[in-house]
Amino acid sequence: MSLSDDLYRETILDHYHNPRNNGTIDDATAKIEGVNPLCGDELTLYLNVSEDGKIQDVKLQAHGCSINMASGSMMSEAVMGQSVERAKEIIETFKEMMLNKEQDVPLEDDLEDLEALRGVKKYPVRIKCALLPWNTLLDGLAEACAAKK
Ligand code: ZN
Repeated sequence: MSLSDDLYRETILDHYHNPRNNGTIDDATAKIEGVNPLCGDELTLYLNVSEDGKIQDVKLQAHGCSINMASGSMMSEAVMGQSVERAKEIIETFKEMMLNKEQDVPLEDDLEDLEALRGVKKYPVRIKCALLPWNTLLDGLAEACAAKK
């Protein structure tokens, strides 16, 4: 499979080679595993969510292609320190950007790093790679919120 250069933009490669928030959390509020069998991407996501609903820490252990790794790394930066509600909005915005076939969905200024992944939209097989960390985060937030009740 040959992928064009814009898929491997500098930002994606940087996150792939130096994934942010790589690791585990011992006493995580939620620990969720995500798999994309189409590509072989696997990741484990650890979340610490505070009593007042803030994402205090997020860590990832990922094994997969560059798109999956970079997307997870960027995701961790985008939601770190955010409220659960805001994180869900960010997830929705990102998924809308990747999945909306009718139009280009703009990103808010504070999410502009995620712009680097927009080019992946042109490669339908790779969209699942980019979305895996985000769908896993959505599951993790649900588990974290259920754990507190
Ligand atoms: Zn992949």
